[in-house]
Amino acid sequence: MSSTPAAVIPVMVPWLGEEEAQAAAEAVRSGWVAQGPRVAAFERAFAEHLGVPHAVAVSSCTTALHLAMIGAGVGPGDEVVVPSLSFVATANAVTYVGAVPVFADVDPATGNLTADTVAAVLTDRTRAVIAVDQGGVPVDLDAIRALVEPRGATVVEDAACGAGSLYRRRPVGAAAEIAAYSFHPRKLLTTGEGGMVTCQDADLAARLRRLREHGMSVSAADRHSASGGAAVVETYDEIGFNHRMTDIQAAVGLVQLGKLPAMVARRRELAERYRSLLGPLAARLVADPAHGTGNYQACWLLLPDTAPDRTEVLARLAAAGVSARRGIMAAHLEAPYKGTARVPLPATELITHRSLILPLFHTLTEEQQDRVVAALREAVG
Ligand SMILES: *Cc1c(COP(=O)(O)O)cnc(C)c1O
Repeated sequence: MSSTPAAVIPVMVPWLGEEEAQAAAEAVRSGWVAQGPRVAAFERAFAEHLGVPHAVAVSSCTTALHLAMIGAGVGPGDEVVVPSLSFVATANAVTYVGAVPVFADVDPATGNLTADTVAAVLTDRTRAVIAVDQGGVPVDLDAIRALVEPRGATVVEDAACGAGSLYRRRPVGAAAEIAAYSFHPRKLLTTGEGGMVTCQDADLAARLRRLREHGMSVSAADRHSASGGAAVVETYDEIGFNHRMTDIQAAVGLVQLGKLPAMVARRRELAERYRSLLGPLAARLVADPAHGTGNYQACWLLLPDTAPDRTEVLARLAAAGVSARRGIMAAHLEAPYKGTARVPLPATELITHRSLILPLFHTLTEEQQDRVVAALREAVG
C-alpha cells in the first residue's frame, strides 16, 4: 500500500482569472475579433506603462524581432551579434532577414551579453546587436550601446522575458531604440500568443505598423471604421507580413497588464524565499545585477560541481513530484547553428548544461516551495 503521491508541482502556471475570461468574451460578443480597437488600446496602455512613444502589437515576440531586424535595416550580408544562450527565436530572427547571427558569450552571473563579450565578435559587417534580458534579468544596455553605436550598429533589445523588470529604474526596454516583448504563457504577462515591438521614432513605428499588416498603407481596422470606409483605397508599398495580434488577445492583455505589478511583486517575494531556504545553494541562484531588478521570469540556479549530472538531478526532482526544467538553451548547440560559433562560449555552455529552472508562479504556495527545496537538496546530494 503506497500513500497517494502529492500532486506534481509545475514549473510555471499563468495567472489568469475570470476578468480575462470576461474581457475575451466581450471582444467576441462585440463582433470585432481581428486587430481593432482593443489592440489599439492595449498598445497605448503598454506604451504608457513603459514610458515610450510607440508600441506596435504583433502575433509573438518572434515576429516582433523579425520586424525589429527589418526596422534596424538588417539584411543579407550583415552580421548581428546575439547571445547563443537564448531561446532559438533570437538567432532565427536574424536568419529570417538573410543575415548571419554571430554568437557572443554571456556573463556567467546574469546570463546576459556584456560590452566585453560583444566586443570580442564585432566586425566591419556588424549591423546590429540583439541584447536579451535573459530570464527577465536586465541586460546592461547602455554599455553595449556605447560600444556599438559609434560603429553605426543598432542595439535591439529582446525583452521577451522582461515585462516588469527595471533597468536603471525604468521598465526594461524603455531605453532601447527598438525593443521586443513576448506574451507567451511562459512569460509573466500573457495573451496566449502575442508580442509587442516598441520604438522611439514615429516614422519607424509607422513602418512597423505597415509591415505587420501586408505592407498596407491604411490598416484594415482604419478602413472599416472610417465613415464611408469603402472610399478609402489602400496601397501596398513594400512586402509585408501578417504579424497581427487579435482583439481577443489584446482584451486579455489589457487585464494582464493591470496585474503585472502584483505578478512581479509576488515572484520577487517567492524568489527571495527560495534564497533564504536554499542554504549554500542560494549563492548559485540568479540575482539582481547592480543596474536593475529582475522579474524572475526564469528562477534559475547553477548546480554545484559536486552535484550529479543535470539530467539525473531533474529525474530525481521529477520522482519527488517537482517539475523543474533544464536551464536556458544554447542555439550554437542546435542543428541549424552547430559549428558556427566563432569564439569559445564557456559561460554559455556552463549555464546551458549545469543550470535548472525552479518552479515559480503567482499561486505557488509556501508548502509547495518547501517541497521543492527539500527535493532539490536531496537531489543535489
Ligand atoms: C520566449 C522568447 C522569445 C520568443 O517569444 P514568442 O512570443 O514565443 O515568439 C524570444 N526571445 C526570448 C529571449 C524568449 O525568451
